[in-house]
Formats: sequence, C-alpha cells, structure tokens
Amino acid sequence: MKILVINCGSSSLKYQLIDMKNEMCLAQGLVERIGMDGSVLTQKVAGREKYIVKKEMKDHQDAIKLVLDTLVDEMNGVIKSVDEISSVGHRVVHGGEAYSSSVLIDEKVMKALEDCSKLAPLHNPPNIIGINACKALMPSTPMVAVFDTAFHQTMPEHAFIYPLPYELYEKNKIRKYGFHGTSHKYVSQMAAKMLNMDIKDLKIISCHLGNGASIAAIKGGKSIDTSMGFTPLAGLAMGTRSGDIDPAIITYMMEEMDLSANEVSNIINKRSGVLGISGLSSDFRDLGAAADTNKRAKLALDVFHYRIKTCISAYAGALGGVDCIIFTAGIGENSASSREACCEGLEFLGIKIDKEKNNIHGEAADISSIDSDVKILVIPTNEELMIARDTKEIVEFNK
Ligand code: ADP
Repeated sequence: MKILVINCGSSSLKYQLIDMKNEMCLAQGLVERIGMDGSVLTQKVAGREKYIVKKEMKDHQDAIKLVLDTLVDEMNGVIKSVDEISSVGHRVVHGGEAYSSSVLIDEKVMKALEDCSKLAPLHNPPNIIGINACKALMPSTPMVAVFDTAFHQTMPEHAFIYPLPYELYEKNKIRKYGFHGTSHKYVSQMAAKMLNMDIKDLKIISCHLGNGASIAAIKGGKSIDTSMGFTPLAGLAMGTRSGDIDPAIITYMMEEMDLSANEVSNIINKRSGVLGISGLSSDFRDLGAAADTNKRAKLALDVFHYRIKTCISAYAGALGGVDCIIFTAGIGENSASSREACCEGLEFLGIKIDKEKNNIHGEAADISSIDSDVKILVIPTNEELMIARDTKEIVEFNK
C-alpha cells in the first residue's frame, strides 16, 4: 500500500510517497511558486541526486499533475504507474469542531471544509484547492483529510472557552482550537514507545518549536491544553508571529497609529516574533550566531525561551505534574542551546537536562540527567507519516 501525502499551501505544495509495508518514504518533494513565474519542483529520493524540474505551473492542478508525472518518471521516478498510489492523505489546517479525527473525504466533508475556511482564511482554501486538484486527476482514489486541529478536540471547556461573551462561541465559533495536532500526537506516541510505557499513564508536555511554535499538555494520550488558539497566531513568540499580546494593542494600533486591520494583521503575523524584536532574522541559526555581540538578537532569544518556560510551568500545573517533556521541529530537534535555555530554572519541577547528552541534532534521544524526575526527550516529528497512518486506517476501515 503506497500512500501519497499532500500538504498544500497557497503557492507551494509539499508531498511524500510512503510505502506502508515498512513505513518508508519512497520520495519527497516540494513544488514552489505555483501560479507565478519560475515555478519549480524539487524531488528527493534516498541515495539519489536531487531532481529539479523547472516548468510553468499555472495552478495547483498543474502542480499535482507534475508531482504524479515525476513519481512515475522512467529515470527519476519511484513507481511505474499512478495506479500504485492506493490513497491520498491531505493535511488540512482547520477542522473546526466538526472533526475530532481524520475523515474519508466525500461531498459532505468538502462542504464542512468550506465552512471552516472562514476560521482559517489563509490556510484552508489552499488545502481545499489541493484536494480538488487531486480528485480531478485521480477520481477513483480514496482521499482522507487529516486536521491540525483534531488532536486538540479533547480539550475541556475550561481550556478552550475564552473569557468573552458566550454568544461569540455559540454563534461565531470563537474558541481555542489549537494547531500542530498531528505533530503533538506523533511525538507523544513516540515518547511512550521510547519510555516503554503506556501513554495512558503519562503526563507529557510537547514543545513543537519551528517557525510556528506551540506547546501541548497531553494527559493519558489526550490533549488537555495547547498554546495556539483560535488561530496559529496565539501563544509563544515565534519566527515572525507575535504570539500572545495584550489584545488592546490591536485597537490601540488601529486608532492611535491609524493602521487598517490588514496592516495590523501583517505586523503581528509577519513582522513580529523574534524577527520583530531582533530586527535581524526569524532564523534561529542567525540569532544564535549574533547573540554574543547583538543585544537585540539575544533579547529575542531570551523572550522566546522565557515564554516557553512559563508555558511549561503552567502546563505542569494544568496536568498536575509532568513525567516527560518533548522537544521537536526545526529548533526543538536541532538547537541544543535552545533546549538548555528552555529547561534552565525549571529544576524545581524536577526537570534537569544532561548537557552532554543534549549535544545532539536531529535524532531521537533522552537528554535528561540521571537524577531528573522528568524525562526530557528529543523526537524528530513526522507529520507526513502520521497522516499516512491515519489515511491507511481510515481507508481500510471504509473498505
Ligand atoms: P516550519 O515547519 O514551521 O516552517 P521547521 O520545523 O522547519 O519550521 O523549523 C524551522 C526553524 O528551525 C527555523 O527557524 C530555523 O531557524 C530552525 N533551525 C533549523 N536548524 C536549526 C539549528 N541547527 N539550530 C537552531 N535552529 C535551527
């Protein structure tokens, strides 16, 4: 059983073809600049040189057609025919309250996804375009939607209700949804495996630290709180997103600085976070390299780590203790200094990192010191594999 996993953005598309016999990735690729000049596909296959195709792609259907052509390409492909793709798993950012797990895509689901577009205007429309493009090219192949929000649908009301007029939740669906659910679910399951424990017995704090960053509190395998909210803008300071700020700052900027809603949205989404504070970069490698001599680069990192520490402490409270902390995604997997800074000062919770064991990049490891009450794990995330696993399960169940 070979499953194609598609993650469609507004002008880009990531894909992986996974053989579920051994859960091996056969090929992975990225299509960029869809609908613009200079559109390009880059495919990687283990043990081969990168394969790059520069070709005009006017829309997502062109892009997916090129992905399929590349996968079956005689010289550079990995399968003989598109018929070998048994099903397609689509990453969908927002499933609203309608979906607490992945689902086989039919007309009813498509309608529900359209309804969710209001809640995620930047993310859901490209996801829907990707599904439609795949359906047009592979009309008889089953497709599954896997939602970033689904894992967090187990949050209790007191965690997801905002202290706003209740009608805003009832009528406008304004509540905390949470994101990165596929990643938090994957790494928490992996943590239980690494610790050789039943996930039902574990209190886990999962830190997904990439360009977008969020933390989840996971009790017995279920998300009970998470730092992102109604949108992926909430919570931690991120690469370019502000995370939590006093909401009055929004109206202040609009009224006192005469900025439009669009301009404010642009500031808090694209010009804030560690980029905004440092004025230098949203990339943590640049900030790390500059921190010794550049005060604002150091300040940006300090703010980023401080917010993570306060969130970890708060979630230890929400969980009534913590057995395991996970670091994942670009920064969590690769930055030893960030992991150390996130744990520094949390010894009172029994969190003690082993500096030597922490000296690793991009591999799964237990980095807690022998006398740490809490296990601290680095676990590379694999959202694509999680999407493929869900797709396989749902397609087989619906056979
Ligand atoms: P996303 O999927 O949200 O775009 P990633 O999980 O790919 O993000 O993470 C990207 C981030 O990881 C970048 O900000 C980059 O700075 C950071 N990163 C990658 N490698 C390292 C490293 N060796 N040290 C510090 N940060 C790193």
